[in-house]
Amino acid sequence: MKVVLLSPPGLAPFTPPLSIMALSSYLRQEGIEAATIDTSIEFLHFNLFPERLKDKIQAAKAVFASLGPEFSYPEQEEITKINNRIDRDFAVVQEVWGEEGFNISKDNFETAAAAINNALLFTSLVNLPTIHTLNCLYASESMLRNKSENPFLEYYQKKLIPRIAEFQPDLIGISYSYESQLFPGLSLTAEIRNALKVPVVCGGSFFSIMCDAVYKDGTGSVSTKKEQEEDLLGLLHPFGIYGEGEEPLLALCKCMEKNGQYRHVPRLLYYDKKLEALKVNHHSKTIEAGKLPLIDLKDLPVGKKYLTPLVFAPLMSARGCYWNKCAFCVLAESIGSNWRRLPQEKIIQNIKLYKEHYGVDFIVFTDEAMPPVTLRFLAERILQEGIEIYFGTMMRFEKGLLHTIELAAKAGCRFLSFGFESGCRRIVSAMRKGYSHETAQHILDQCAENGIAVELHVMFGFPTETVDEARETISFLEKNSDKIAVISANPWVLAVGSHIYDHLEHYGIVPNEGRVIADDPSTYSVTEGIGYKQALEMVNSLYGNPLLGKKILRRMGVHGFSEEYYYLQRHFPEALASPLAMARNPGAEGNHA
Ligand code: SF4
Repeated sequence: MKVVLLSPPGLAPFTPPLSIMALSSYLRQEGIEAATIDTSIEFLHFNLFPERLKDKIQAAKAVFASLGPEFSYPEQEEITKINNRIDRDFAVVQEVWGEEGFNISKDNFETAAAAINNALLFTSLVNLPTIHTLNCLYASESMLRNKSENPFLEYYQKKLIPRIAEFQPDLIGISYSYESQLFPGLSLTAEIRNALKVPVVCGGSFFSIMCDAVYKDGTGSVSTKKEQEEDLLGLLHPFGIYGEGEEPLLALCKCMEKNGQYRHVPRLLYYDKKLEALKVNHHSKTIEAGKLPLIDLKDLPVGKKYLTPLVFAPLMSARGCYWNKCAFCVLAESIGSNWRRLPQEKIIQNIKLYKEHYGVDFIVFTDEAMPPVTLRFLAERILQEGIEIYFGTMMRFEKGLLHTIELAAKAGCRFLSFGFESGCRRIVSAMRKGYSHETAQHILDQCAENGIAVELHVMFGFPTETVDEARETISFLEKNSDKIAVISANPWVLAVGSHIYDHLEHYGIVPNEGRVIADDPSTYSVTEGIGYKQALEMVNSLYGNPLLGKKILRRMGVHGFSEEYYYLQRHFPEALASPLAMARNPGAEGNHA
């Protein structure tokens, strides 16, 4: 049995995707031959091949000239600016592009990322209205019908499909982690359907969220929500797996090998032709953490094609969230995942594997929230073993963390991300965040003293929040602006399945006329406090804030980049200082935030 696992285009180009690495590592452990392709980064490299890019720029220039200023199209102002400098950007891309990957160094990182972003945006003229840049893809369903709107087609047909065919897989897996991958993934499924007679199974966290919308009662019944079902059906060719994928994917492989019954494959979605209905198999237990293998980066162009001068790679120390109480959150539940800590020594082995075999410099632990005790364990063992590695993760403001920050910094911790959410005590309590602002302040102070860059997530417009309460958040951020590297600010949006969703009346949420409450702000209103529109205005106002504007993470838009970009852009000196040197000279780096 041979399986190819694909992550569709639509991801930021700084780290390999954990989902396909975790699945392929598990399949290999269980004796199944598995290959992985990060099509996001492979597509970028294909697209920027200088001869191809040169032709595409010429074609884009022709489109630009033919449209003229009187036609309006997305990102027109930005594209018009780039038109005057596209030849310079092309020269930069030519310089950094190599047969095997990109030559990104600390000195050319920012210039190269900007030039590549400009080249992608300018050549989007050829595929209008689709806009594709380093961190965003604006596409619609029409991309699937009109070849001219699809920037991925040539890559799929000339490079990807032949590469998949060469492997001769029995099954192809497509993992959707983010919504941005949806249309590229659907287009890829269509190409596979046309060119290869190989079944496709889709899955991933975004796919699981889509399934949750249809199938939330856990009884295995077939949902009656026809519209959402149809969306799901569009993705199946012919299988889907919701929730954690390891065991269902293995069970599907075994079922196919033995010509078995699909109804025995846990968490499988498939279309039953006889019944003409979407079938959803029952939940199964989540995999025991002890059964999970070391994550292997095999097949991925780590240290070559990712656009970072440091080699980044993701890892997890646990599945799920140990807190799991925040009123607005549905993250940990959306893939039906309870909290399980991975065997601690295995994480150390994995760090060594990354470092020794793949030259990884910086590990991004993608835990929903790493407990302080895990951070302390990792720090102690990294120092004991003398492993030169940098790392960062998401954490909660826990008092227990205060005793660990200095040690973690000595071991190489350079980035911590926290769900701060609000500067108002009442709102933090209503959110069920379970931390105090005093603890948050102490942790921020200590991170600054120990050279750890901090990202804060903040939220505006939580139900019942007043304007004055929202301003308390801004005041806190301003007061601590020198201690915060990145701010991820968002308006609150109802998450279906969250604690708030189950207690709408308590939070004063009412449906808008003729609408059914869903995870879309146009379907509901709040009876108290600021609504979505005002919350969004407050988020947008932060861009113009003299103390905070440059720290606001733009996830969307043609200049949006991910946390890794912000980290690298701002923290080169710290990132490149040896963690072991710091251990010998603690506190030498001072406040870098
Ligand atoms: S917001 Fe974070 S800490 Fe809170 S429950 Fe969700 S994943 Fe856990």
